[in-house]
Amino acid sequence: MKPSAFRYHRPGSIAEAVDVLADVGPDQGRVLAGGQSLVPSMAFRLAAPSTLVDINRIEELGHLSVQDGSLVIGACVRHAAFHRSVVDGVPGPFLTRVARHIGHYPIRQRGTFCGSLAQADPASEWCLVAVALGASVTAASKRGTRRIEATDLIVGAMTTTLAEDELLTEACLPLPAPETRLGFAEFSRRAGDFALAMVLASYRVVDGRIAGACVAVGGAEDRPRRIAAAEMALDGNPPGAETFAAAGGAAAEALDPMEDAQTSVAYRRDLVRTLTSRALERAAA
Ligand SMILES: Cc1cc2nc3c(=O)[nH]c(=O)nc-3n(C[C@H](O)[C@H](O)[C@H](O)COP(=O)(O)OP(=O)(O)OC[C@H]3O[C@@H](n4cnc5c(N)ncnc54)[C@H](O)[C@@H]3O)c2cc1C
Repeated sequence: MKPSAFRYHRPGSIAEAVDVLADVGPDQGRVLAGGQSLVPSMAFRLAAPSTLVDINRIEELGHLSVQDGSLVIGACVRHAAFHRSVVDGVPGPFLTRVARHIGHYPIRQRGTFCGSLAQADPASEWCLVAVALGASVTAASKRGTRRIEATDLIVGAMTTTLAEDELLTEACLPLPAPETRLGFAEFSRRAGDFALAMVLASYRVVDGRIAGACVAVGGAEDRPRRIAAAEMALDGNPPGAETFAAAGGAAAEALDPMEDAQTSVAYRRDLVRTLTSRALERAAA
């Protein structure tokens, strides 16, 4: 199918973009970033925006840098920017490993980190990373800017607290302490498909015991979230198969998984049990 008719704006600055959004946002205007979610939705007529505000020519949105211990990711930074390590130490290669799970190579060349957060797909790898690592975003409008924690931004499947006239200008991802171990595991039926479930695990080892554990699950519920019961099963215990299995069991029990024609609640619970152990083992390796 072809999309329904729309108007098109290509602002050259953030100020110009928020001016346009103030006019068209309340009338079904939408930001166009990588277009890898929005354009297919328009082609299927699941979305019929009156106006597209294309942000791809706004140079101010292309930045990717480390500031005060956080990775700051501008709204036009593509998934492919993470194909190479963007920061020193453990987080750089870790983000590269995660990025390779996002769709296919051409999708990663256009799709953006911030577009994924704005889209809030339950199976978005970047949404999981943002929630697990305590990211925040900056939203700009003619009314000014505000900072939103990832957990307050993503409030359901494809649902965020961004207002219709707001432009998400950047995401700020706190970098874990250098001694933090990070592991990621996901399962999808075919390479490039959205995941049925995924787990990000991180922890430190202090005097032979786990400290500061984080276990976050994506793709299984309507939004990614940290699972406190799994983290409690880890903290204070020695890293190893037994502890990791206990955390996997706790994560599986704590979930309220989504169900669809191909994937039952029990199957997703089982996936999360296995993926939690796997992510923890990868962090230990
Ligand atoms: C076949 C296929 C497989 C895919 N597989 C995966 C996968 O495995 N994992 C995954 O995470 N993603 C996957 N994707 C989605 C892809 O990662 C998208 O790039 C991403 O979801 C959205 O980013 P985008 O820059 O393309 O946003 P767009 O498609 O341009 O926009 C998406 C939505 O976010 C809004 N938006 C975008 N940027 C902003 C902004 N800066 N401020 C305010 N609103 C904004 C738009 O208005 C729109 O509503 C897949 C896509 C396809 C087509």
